[in-house]
Amino acid sequence: MPGSCDVVVVGGGQAGLAVGYYLRRAGLEYVILDAQSQPGGAWRHGWDSLRLFSPAPYSPLPGWGMPSQDGEDFPSAGHVVDYLRAYEQRYDLAVRRPVRVREVRAAGARLAVQTDAGTWSARYVISATGTWQCPYLPDVPGREDFGGRQLHTVDYASPLEFRGQRVVIVGGGNSGAQILADVSRVAEVTWVTRRPPRFMPDNVDGRVLFDVATRTAAGAAGGVSDLGDIVMVPSVRDARERGVLHARAMFARLDAHGVWWADGTGQPCDAVIWCTGFRPELAHLAPLLPRWRQGVAPTDGTRSVDESRLYLLGYGDWTGSASATLVGAGRTARARATVADISARLAG
Ligand code: FAD
Repeated sequence: MPGSCDVVVVGGGQAGLAVGYYLRRAGLEYVILDAQSQPGGAWRHGWDSLRLFSPAPYSPLPGWGMPSQDGEDFPSAGHVVDYLRAYEQRYDLAVRRPVRVREVRAAGARLAVQTDAGTWSARYVISATGTWQCPYLPDVPGREDFGGRQLHTVDYASPLEFRGQRVVIVGGGNSGAQILADVSRVAEVTWVTRRPPRFMPDNVDGRVLFDVATRTAAGAAGGVSDLGDIVMVPSVRDARERGVLHARAMFARLDAHGVWWADGTGQPCDAVIWCTGFRPELAHLAPLLPRWRQGVAPTDGTRSVDESRLYLLGYGDWTGSASATLVGAGRTARARATVADISARLAG
């Protein structure tokens, strides 16, 4: 199965599929290698109540938009998985799975893509491995001393396992607000954020974010983050109506029983849920990216500054405004521009 082609794409989530659409259209020889055994990327792992903050028509990949979900204004994660599965079938994208890429190295004029299924040889590599596999936990003193349960967003499935408990939720982004909304229905919850939460106006949902992301991609000033951090999806609005949407400042340390603030006040708790974000999954690129450190790798557009045969797609705003969203994967993650650049270099 391994072989030689123009382009190897690492990762078959939404970013990998969006670029696959343009690679196919350009008639290039390509393969998409995905570590999971089924389509859907990170959407396979969301918690039970996770909903898109945009109606389906506002979350399109290139070529074919997401169909609406019966009875739901904001589609479920399962619906997104179904869409991604249908998308790759519709365009007959060359996805191989499960294939985990271990390492990408320079091999003369080509790149060697070493995987658990053999080595592919490519002229160019597009990495689209997302962030879900790299949960970030801040280094707070006493974290290892805490005797209760600690989990990250990636481990959270449903509020039922916290029924009747005292739960501290850390993080002022959408995951923190949505998990707070979920868990506060069955547990006593303390919400803790590093800075005061920035709520978007109620009338800003995915439609407005779509417009802003599209305008920003076209060069207009002011991005999505100018509007705030937290989208007021129905569950978060409901939490506000129940009076639980109040955050405390970040605590200074943990001990065996709970969390403690710098002023000496404490909060005993049974569980801490860290909704503290993610880092790009770039470990497989270590031989090519000497300047990569936990956060970002320098790029010019999506082309790596350190290795010009390598492109980075998705991940976050540093590879294109809103590029880690569905709409951004098609429009602002520069999937089309990436393929145009590769086509021109192959032709030239
Ligand atoms: P992923 O979906 O993570 O796909 C990467 C793929 O690469 C995976 O299949 C993975 O297994 C594979 N992979 C990783 N490493 C390797 C390797 N070494 N070899 C081979 N394969 C590998 N966006 C929206 O547009 N609307 C929303 O409402 C929204 N809500 C969100 C809510 C949450 C809680 C989160 C976390 C994100 C949300 N997003 C939303 C953002 C976003 O759409 C996702 O983060 C998206 O999944 C990123 O897509 P991706 O293709 O870049 O990465």
